[in-house]
Amino acid sequence: MAEAVGDIGLIGLAVMGQNLILNMNDHGFVVVAYNRTVEKVDHFLANEAKGTKIIGAHSVEELCKKLKRPRRIVFLVKAGSAVDDFIKQLEPFLEKGDIIIDGGNSEYTDSRRRTKELEAKGLLFVGCGVSGGEEGARYGPSMMPGGSVAAWPYIKPIFQAIAAKVDGEPCCDWVGEDGAGHFVKMVHNGIEYGDMQLIAEAYHILRDVVGLTNDEMSQVLAKWNKGVLDSFLIEITSEILKYKDEKGEYLVEKIRDTAGQKGTGKWTAVAALEFGIPVTLIGEAVFARCLSSLKDERVNASKHLTGPKLKFTGDKQKFIDQISQALYASKIISYAQGFMLFREAAKQLNWKLNNGGIALMWRGGCIIRSAFLGDIKKAFDKNENLSNLLLDDFFKKAINDSQAGWRDVVATAVQHGIPVPAMSSALSFYDGFRLERLPANLLQAQRDYFGAHTYELLDAPGKFLHTNWTGRG
Ligand code: NAP
Repeated sequence: MAEAVGDIGLIGLAVMGQNLILNMNDHGFVVVAYNRTVEKVDHFLANEAKGTKIIGAHSVEELCKKLKRPRRIVFLVKAGSAVDDFIKQLEPFLEKGDIIIDGGNSEYTDSRRRTKELEAKGLLFVGCGVSGGEEGARYGPSMMPGGSVAAWPYIKPIFQAIAAKVDGEPCCDWVGEDGAGHFVKMVHNGIEYGDMQLIAEAYHILRDVVGLTNDEMSQVLAKWNKGVLDSFLIEITSEILKYKDEKGEYLVEKIRDTAGQKGTGKWTAVAALEFGIPVTLIGEAVFARCLSSLKDERVNASKHLTGPKLKFTGDKQKFIDQISQALYASKIISYAQGFMLFREAAKQLNWKLNNGGIALMWRGGCIIRSAFLGDIKKAFDKNENLSNLLLDDFFKKAINDSQAGWRDVVATAVQHGIPVPAMSSALSFYDGFRLERLPANLLQAQRDYFGAHTYELLDAPGKFLHTNWTGRG
């Protein structure tokens, strides 16, 4: 009989799984590796895992026999039916209190269902968002676990050991109940779409309004990276902008302007609509990718549709500084919207979300890592019941200091015919959110006119009235 020496099992020997196993091995944990195509187990042991303490298993039964109790088994397999298939295969060999952890990009609704189903059988389930790609998995990812809270003490020492660290603190903490870990990972990906779109808009303005060369743009971003915009995405964009191919030409300018997507940005936008929270910036970032992919239609339209042809005549350096302010203010809005979505999801799904912990988990190891997330963490440390990031003193001042520049940039882009869907929708959200009175009184009157949907008067809330607007019977 196989000896139970494994600290943790991992199923799924593609790039993420292999790297996470090697990471756990580096931290002294004995990992038992398994994969649907079993030959990959032997190949992994003979190559990447050669000379390590990693153990192989050739069946789920063998995997379970080799693990200490309670068993901890991580999945890094394709999201969807593969996860349910493996759960079904494992169940006969598991005992009460054993823990299944899904580290793939699963939908949070699936993780909610799986937590419920497995807890009913006495097993524990954790849906854990893992970010940072293959490099992160190997040397320190951002990890967002949620699900059966009883599992946390058993996985905490392993997960916090292998996660990225910022100032000695691990970018991994308990997120919340059932699907909360995958929900937070989903919003993380949506925010990534938003951050990338904002940088793309800044690049568009710098190139086509200000008229900077790629080297100049690269230097501008390198400078931004030393201030409040300090982040992985700004850093790599500065590198991308100045990169030349073998012909000595800027590679980025030769890349087809159509952006792909795998779906998690869309899921965030769909969740925002379902929860009724205006996460407008991420929504616009998803639509911007959709518009980009209509390349043939755009090429045709460009031959027929006209726009302004202005030459920028302002103070270039001042305008470049304003672009950084527009980016920063819009980014604050995007994160504020993301945390609004968390608040509403937590309310509707009975989650107690760890907001400060989420900011800390994103502070390192993942694509959206930035100094800015440290400021978000501080805001929640100051007030764990903060209703909206925009009401925190630090962010209130940051928006106040940036908003004149932000407005100038959006207005100038509009005048020059440059699309800025993320920056402009962020500004519209800000103006809508800060206004005590919106024109929705008229919407409500229209609804009452055509559909007798009733309205309340400002000075008589809770009392619903209907008017016969035409006077006709
Ligand atoms: P992947 O290409 O998404 O999945 C490959 C793995 O899934 C292989 O082990 C494969 O087994 C297994 N698999 C696929 N279909 C299966 C099925 N029907 N039944 C059983 N096993 C099945 O691998 P990955 O890129 O390493 O990603 C793993 C997970 O992490 C995914 O959920 C992914 O979305 C998520 N993720 C990926 C990244 C990234 O940067 N790649 C980042 C974060 C999260 P076989 O070898 O037998 O085909």
